[in-house]
Amino acid sequence: MNLDLSPEQVSFKESVERFARDVVSPRAAAIDASGEFPTDVMQAAAGLGLLGVTVSTAWGGSGRDYLSYALAIEAIGRASATVAASLVVTNSLVAELVEHAGTDEQRDRWLRPLARGELIGAFALSEPNAGTDAANQQTTAVRTGDGYRLAGRKVWVANAEEAGIIIVFASTQPGRRGEGVSAFLVPSNTPGIRRSALGDSLGVRGLGCMDLDFNVAVRDDQLLGTRDEGFGLAMWALQGGRVAIAAQALGIGQAALDEAIAHAKTREQFGRPIANYEAIQWMIADAATALDAARMLMWKAATVKDRGEPSVLESSMAKLAASEAAHNAADKAMQVLASAGYRRGSVVERLFRDVRAAEIYQGTSEAQRMIIAKNL
Ligand SMILES: Cc1cc2nc3c(=O)[nH]c(=O)nc-3n(C[C@H](O)[C@H](O)[C@H](O)COP(=O)(O)OP(=O)(O)OC[C@H]3O[C@@H](n4cnc5c(N)ncnc54)[C@H](O)[C@@H]3O)c2cc1C
Repeated sequence: MNLDLSPEQVSFKESVERFARDVVSPRAAAIDASGEFPTDVMQAAAGLGLLGVTVSTAWGGSGRDYLSYALAIEAIGRASATVAASLVVTNSLVAELVEHAGTDEQRDRWLRPLARGELIGAFALSEPNAGTDAANQQTTAVRTGDGYRLAGRKVWVANAEEAGIIIVFASTQPGRRGEGVSAFLVPSNTPGIRRSALGDSLGVRGLGCMDLDFNVAVRDDQLLGTRDEGFGLAMWALQGGRVAIAAQALGIGQAALDEAIAHAKTREQFGRPIANYEAIQWMIADAATALDAARMLMWKAATVKDRGEPSVLESSMAKLAASEAAHNAADKAMQVLASAGYRRGSVVERLFRDVRAAEIYQGTSEAQRMIIAKNL
């Protein structure tokens, strides 16, 4: 297996790493503290081609391969988990899906501004009673004269605070679960959308998550893809999204490892840096090894996506391994820093909170294990 990046991949990765260091990192603590959506950072990211990364140049995207995109998300995730997660939603769950399933008219209207960063996208699948059981959609889309009436409640919609376009999943054939769900492109200013702020959240603060109540009229030309095939589209988008969340988690885990190594080299106890003690070395060695193993799974899943093949198994394995390795790295970093990490406002304290969502969103770790087992 060739693990060398092409000169173009290296140059893109380095430019994103510079952006992460110079622009994203200095804002990370404030985004976490305020919980405000980082509009300024997202606009700057758009300038670097980080929205619509894999969207073809014909539709205004950067036309990059999936591995380049994943490396970019990892670099941003190392600086700010929130910014990386927000980019994943617009890129993988919205822009890629519009390119994959949209008509040319829909691509022209929505994909171009998404790829230019003029629009933020949101993906509304989860409901109060449709979490892991996402096929249990209670939001309905009932046929009217020239379209549908969409009614129901969506929860935990990331980017919803700022999104201009929302992909909403709804049952067009109640009782048929995943075989009767359709996807709709709903502009966020459509009359009949009621937004409610979520309560405070543990991590990835500033992701703009909201609960949304819909009672809206949509036209036929807002249907994304074929009627009743929306659940398959959601699962298609999540294949890419899970590769990207694996990358985001790896970025968080790597940042935690960096903090642990730096602290271990400078903190002295018993007259020597704690990096001299085997107990500390082993925590760092194990965390680094698990992160790198998960990174290989993420690379593999991205490569399968780049070959244009289904990556259901590889994406779930990558997300499962990366989110758990990153959680472990943040936990061990907390142990290495001890009280210096436990203090509110320390970098490790933020990483420790941020990393946890990667085992929940885009399917919990239990859901990934179910998918992996089913595919075996
Ligand atoms: C920060 C954040 C952002 C999010 N962003 C979005 C978004 O943009 N769009 C969106 O649609 N959703 C979003 N979500 C929702 C997310 O996808 C769901 O939280 C997730 O799918 C889990 O659903 P749930 O929370 O209802 O948990 P539940 O489904 O209630 O699960 C509870 C527990 O039971 C386990 N469980 C459930 N069923 C089984 C089973 N059959 N076997 C074994 N264990 C099982 C789960 O793994 C979990 O441990 C977001 C969530 C968070 C936290």
